[in-house]
Amino acid sequence: MEQLQLPTDIEALIPEKHLVRVVNNSVERMKIDPLLDQYKGGGTSSYHPKMMLKVLIYAYTQKLYSSRQIAKALRENIHFMWISGNNTPDFRTINRFRSSQMKAIIDEVFKSVLELLIEDGYVQLENYFLDGTKIEANANKYSWVWAKTTKNYKEKVQARILELMDRIEKANQDENERYGDNDLEELGSGPIDEEKIEKKIQELNERLAKKTGAKKEEKDLKKIETDYLPRLKRYQEQESKLAGRNSYSKTDVDATFMRMKEDPMKNGQLKPGYNVQIGTENQFIVGYSIHQNRTDTGCLIPHLEHFQKMTGRKPKNIIADAGYGSEENYEYIESKQIEAYVKYNEFYLEQKRKFKKNPLNAKNWKYDEKADEFICCRGKHLKYIFTRQRKSDLGYISQRRVYECEDCSNCPLKSKCTRSIGNRRMEVGLRLNMLKEKATQNLLSDKGKKLRSQRAIEVETAFGMIKHNWSFRRFMLRGIDKVKTEWGLLSIAHNLAKLATN
Ligand code: SF4
Repeated sequence: MEQLQLPTDIEALIPEKHLVRVVNNSVERMKIDPLLDQYKGGGTSSYHPKMMLKVLIYAYTQKLYSSRQIAKALRENIHFMWISGNNTPDFRTINRFRSSQMKAIIDEVFKSVLELLIEDGYVQLENYFLDGTKIEANANKYSWVWAKTTKNYKEKVQARILELMDRIEKANQDENERYGDNDLEELGSGPIDEEKIEKKIQELNERLAKKTGAKKEEKDLKKIETDYLPRLKRYQEQESKLAGRNSYSKTDVDATFMRMKEDPMKNGQLKPGYNVQIGTENQFIVGYSIHQNRTDTGCLIPHLEHFQKMTGRKPKNIIADAGYGSEENYEYIESKQIEAYVKYNEFYLEQKRKFKKNPLNAKNWKYDEKADEFICCRGKHLKYIFTRQRKSDLGYISQRRVYECEDCSNCPLKSKCTRSIGNRRMEVGLRLNMLKEKATQNLLSDKGKKLRSQRAIEVETAFGMIKHNWSFRRFMLRGIDKVKTEWGLLSIAHNLAKLATN
């Protein structure tokens, strides 16, 4: 049987509108000087960075994330052969390019894609649909370090050190008197750290050296030196890696333990991961950021800051779900002169007839501005008693005014009105209420209704494509910078794949 001959020119085998051509043309059109500078700079690879970028983006659209798989495709798949110009970098070169060289320029590359989409009229950055998802890190599920446990262990070790030091000090009372100081007090005041203890150990060692028959004290000191001190050092290191988080993974210290949406075991197990935030318009990803924060509320400001820094642009409207509706976020959006179509937790509840008619709902009570008091449905006065302040992780201070009813004791509605044994107390955020009011007006407007219905399909389409169609549910690389590069590549791949279908 005669062997079927492939044409020598593989160009002829690639259809006109094939995705591989879209990727190729788009990368050719990109203005990515920092990428080309790497080539001029005499990097370790002799392969052209533009070719490497094309290969990586195309690989991500083909669900190929491992550098070995990509290297194999370059040898076996005609689309890869075509886009690489028959170059065959090995998996190490691909990996090095992705994890080292791309890291510094991923934002620039993403920005270039965005500029192309704007130039071709696919996006206008008018409506920015924001949402987040959690993606598992490339880390062991059981490699956790918890902040609470670390704190408890550290306190126990500190207490044990103090106890032993105290014992040694007491045994050395004579020497203490001779030296005329009391170092125990110095060690006991304020938090004790590795440095203080090391100094103290040295001092005690010197004293014990001058003494005979101090076997027990020497044993205690040795225990501190060889056991407690290294443990204390370890807990201090863990605390610095935690950097205010509640947990981290030992195999990827940047990953935080989070509850994932996908939970095949249905046991709510926390897994090491990253909170990925994206902004979309016309289902193209127009902005992205990676966070170690588990909640979406705290991600809105850093996300928009990053978007503005990366693109030098700002959207006109922001559309997001109730997870983002906080006073700090509303305030920030307003300060940037962006329109907020951002829901808050009680938004839907407040639209219900039952809520509007509920006599126990403080929103339906009369407020006397002059006297600064509310009058409840039983005619009782709730007077202002004090203001509570809350500081967010980003340093924003919000104020809640606390009001208390003058007398709830004989009220027949008390069991329904409050769980408190005494009089009903309630917190009112005047600024928050004003901002919510504005958001409500936007959300209930015709434009708001349209944007709200659009929101459901906007971001979910992008996440659905990446997580389900492309089966990307776990990062390949470790560390937040590399994870950012990986997500940047996925976002670019998503945009170009979408472009190919338009
Ligand atoms: S419990 Fe107090 S605040 Fe509530 S309705 Fe009765 S009197 Fe008014």
